[in-house]
Amino acid sequence: MDASEVKLYVDRNVEHMMRQVGVPHWAVEVTYEPEANPNWMASCNRDGRDYEHATINIDPAKVQTIKGLHEAIVHELFHIALASLDVYRDVMRRKLKSEAEDEQEHILWTHTLETAVMRLEQGIGKSVTALPEGDEDAES
Ligand SMILES: [Zn+2]
Repeated sequence: MDASEVKLYVDRNVEHMMRQVGVPHWAVEVTYEPEANPNWMASCNRDGRDYEHATINIDPAKVQTIKGLHEAIVHELFHIALASLDVYRDVMRRKLKSEAEDEQEHILWTHTLETAVMRLEQGIGKSVTALPEGDEDAES
């Protein structure tokens, strides 16, 4: 999809979606760079979680539909909503003593976190909507 079309959708809807997901107080920057992982349309960096700052990257070349884009934004916003779990992980990872333990933790972390995000998507995520057409200022 054309990057300008992706950016327009994000600019128009992301704050509204952040309110719906429960993270309106976060500073979320959106970037539009290619994703190295061929399976990822978007990703989220939450390294600034202590200050409630995150970056969502969207790869416009991988966006096929507005519906897919919307779902990817919802997915990444749920990662932000669950950012306190990242703190738990950071502390636990310091206790690992080998590459094998690190690898096991990575598998467990990815499965656990992605499952939690998917459950939220399948539940409350279905009620996260875009702004009605022409209603950019409806909730400002
Ligand atoms: Zn995810």
